[in-house]
Amino acid sequence: MESGIPTFRGPDGLWKKYRAEDLATMQAFQANPKLVWEWYNSRRENMLQVEPNPGHRAMAAFEQHFQEFMLVTQNIDGLHDRAGSRKILKLHGDIWEVRCVECGVSRIDQTVPMDPLPPHCQCGGLLRVGVVWFGEMLPPGVFENAMEVTRNCDLFFSVGTSAVVYPAAYLPQLAKTHGAYVVEVNLEPSAAADYADEFLPGKSGEILPEIQKMLKLP
Ligand code: ZN
Repeated sequence: MESGIPTFRGPDGLWKKYRAEDLATMQAFQANPKLVWEWYNSRRENMLQVEPNPGHRAMAAFEQHFQEFMLVTQNIDGLHDRAGSRKILKLHGDIWEVRCVECGVSRIDQTVPMDPLPPHCQCGGLLRVGVVWFGEMLPPGVFENAMEVTRNCDLFFSVGTSAVVYPAAYLPQLAKTHGAYVVEVNLEPSAAADYADEFLPGKSGEILPEIQKMLKLP
């Protein structure tokens, strides 16, 4: 990941012996909510040490300039929010959202570390992070909205994704079949390249600011 957020797959001590598949599930959370929360605590801590890159900031500038701009992302790290984006469809949720597994109430909470672990809702239920876990559906309505804006857009950018994780990988194709001009920004062409009218090789953190500069956006 360009912004340098360490993943738990790296040399992260304790987490070396766990795989995401072992922790990012409702089963793991029900079996050991404290362990799962400790993991998310450390991930949230790592994420706060990373700043949005110029690519994140360029997207926030595009939103300011283009009234119908919409950002669809699989990122859960909150960096787009911190860069100033507000119109975001988060397909995989948000690690800064906490949601009660009993009553469903949710809020953004950037407390790091959470104390005590695991945190509880006022109703007594356990709070979980608002990311999509393995085996879970995407947040209700979010992908439908993403398809809607994709069908209706004139210009579609696929940025820095491998475009293999469905259903998000379906969007470039959907944009193309509905007449959008499709641009892929990536280090190497992905599956999205099949539907792209144009391929811009490079890092999103470099290419998008260039476009921002060409458009003379602040
Ligand atoms: Zn509750």
